[in-house]
Amino acid sequence: MKRLFSLLTLGLIVMFAPAAGVEPPSETVAIDATDIARGIIHAKLTIPARPGPMTVVYPKWIPGEHSPAGPITELVSLRFTGGGYKLGWKRDLIDMYAFHIVVPPGATTVEASLDYLLAAGTIGSKERHTTARVAMLNMYAFTLYPQGTKNTDLTVHPSIVLPPGWEFGTALVEQSRSGPAVTFAPVTLETFIDSPLLTGENFRKFTLDTSNGTAELDVAGEVPEDIVASDPTVEKFKRLIREADAEYGARHWKNYHFLLALTDAIDTNGIEHHESSDDRAPENFLTDTDLLDFDGDLLPHEFTHSWNGKYRRPYDLQVDNYQDPEQTDLLWVYEGLTQYLGDVLAERSGLRPPGEFGEVLAASYADLDATTGRLTRPLADTADAAQLLYTSTPQFRHDRRTVDYYAESELMWLEVDAIIRRVSAGKRSIDDFVRAFYGPPASGPKVVTYTRADVVAALMSVATYDWDGFFGTRIDTIEAHPPAGGFEADGWRFEYAAEPTRFMREFEKYQKQIVAAYSIGAIISETGDVIDVIAGSPADKAGLAPFQKVLAVGGRRFSADALHAVIRATATRTSRIPFVVDAFGSVSTVDVVYGGGEKYPRLVRIDGTTDVLDAIVKPRGDLHGR
Ligand SMILES: [Zn+2]
Repeated sequence: MKRLFSLLTLGLIVMFAPAAGVEPPSETVAIDATDIARGIIHAKLTIPARPGPMTVVYPKWIPGEHSPAGPITELVSLRFTGGGYKLGWKRDLIDMYAFHIVVPPGATTVEASLDYLLAAGTIGSKERHTTARVAMLNMYAFTLYPQGTKNTDLTVHPSIVLPPGWEFGTALVEQSRSGPAVTFAPVTLETFIDSPLLTGENFRKFTLDTSNGTAELDVAGEVPEDIVASDPTVEKFKRLIREADAEYGARHWKNYHFLLALTDAIDTNGIEHHESSDDRAPENFLTDTDLLDFDGDLLPHEFTHSWNGKYRRPYDLQVDNYQDPEQTDLLWVYEGLTQYLGDVLAERSGLRPPGEFGEVLAASYADLDATTGRLTRPLADTADAAQLLYTSTPQFRHDRRTVDYYAESELMWLEVDAIIRRVSAGKRSIDDFVRAFYGPPASGPKVVTYTRADVVAALMSVATYDWDGFFGTRIDTIEAHPPAGGFEADGWRFEYAAEPTRFMREFEKYQKQIVAAYSIGAIISETGDVIDVIAGSPADKAGLAPFQKVLAVGGRRFSADALHAVIRATATRTSRIPFVVDAFGSVSTVDVVYGGGEKYPRLVRIDGTTDVLDAIVKPRGDLHGR
């Protein structure tokens, strides 16, 4: 009934609508960031309208988040005016992201004013995006648009007023500036939503490349010391641009901005955009070389997405606007191949130390092999259900599975590379596929969609193989173990050892947890919180479980050192290790029966074979092009 009524009403609207003009519809979005220290953004929008009932919507499906994560809970103080009148609004009872208004006769626009609670945390992946000195502004948070609008059909005129003395970086093009007030060149709604703005009190820009357009690193930090980078560090980021040029052979961006927010108050993360990336890391990211090594793939991963994800995009991830649901089944290409290429480019450009690629692969293999959820849930389902898994807890991760299409697909793409090398007798590699699929001809930002069949066809043109059958097995069926064929063909085999690799040591240090998953079968935080327990392991049999807290272990108050020590002591004999555990307020002692000492994953060379992994991560950027 309601729909019928709306349709009848729409019939009347046409009579009041202005004559169709030649100008495409446009909208202004004026952002006032001067209240940012309190975590509040004010925005005023002028939205194209027609007299009569109208529905405006708030972005729901956020590109790169792969989920309906539009942070609408933090949209407050929403007011509409039109034709000089205040307009009431009514939220749709089914679609929480839609607001119904009635536009007065004669009005061709409505004005909306809103506040956005930037500090409240419900943005994107439920993370805070601002502190008192650093803020990452994602435009979807401040945007409403007419329902049914195609994101390439609406022109947005953006502007912002910054806090006094703050600088900014964004892929939006500055048109004019007067002190803290900046006006940007008009862009499509698609480009606007795709163009976050990093701003901060302590801000610095590093030029990385000017050979054909500009690539720059824009950094905002909590204190001036955060935004200092040594020449060798900046050189690594410069090499990243050269290595990407060599890998892809063509760019699909004109000017690229790495927007790097350095603060301990925002979780480390990255979100891809066509001509920028929203990168967030701890304060000492640029100054602690161990941390930069550990997170060295952050910028290479997001940069790779400019080609894989933004330029080439799965057909069913490309939608007309932000209300249409995305289908995420091809994330094993979009994210999985990006995970592979990000790690490879990180090591080629020096952002990761030599040999770390193999250590990362070993860590992934062990974690995925301990994931018992894989025995009932194929890899495909982790991609199909991405919108659920991004916000799932780390607790029970191994029972549930998580976004495994990153790490497991990386192992699979390494195997793809090995197959191409074998089938072509060493003449070709995955780099040939990457160049053919993502490379020339160069273009500005644009989207070229693909299907699974297109991926198979492109691989077939590089190396003749049963790729359909291969993906059918690796992606769609239950496999007891993750793919080992890649690193094994590359001359390495997997094993456990008592000593952690450098990567595992840094993982435990920066993640503040002890990975005893492969010994007693538990991952426990430095403060004793049980994060996860592997089904069937000694810890599981003893009754340890996620969300419990270990108060004492082996007769000592819990600490990372105490846990390491009791596990290490079992290297030569099986022991009963007492754990004093607080389970939701009930305290008891359980005994974990275990022998075998500490166990950490690593790859070791297979005697008499060629080290292909080493060849994969060799720099290529200085051999090509300029
Ligand atoms: Zn990604």
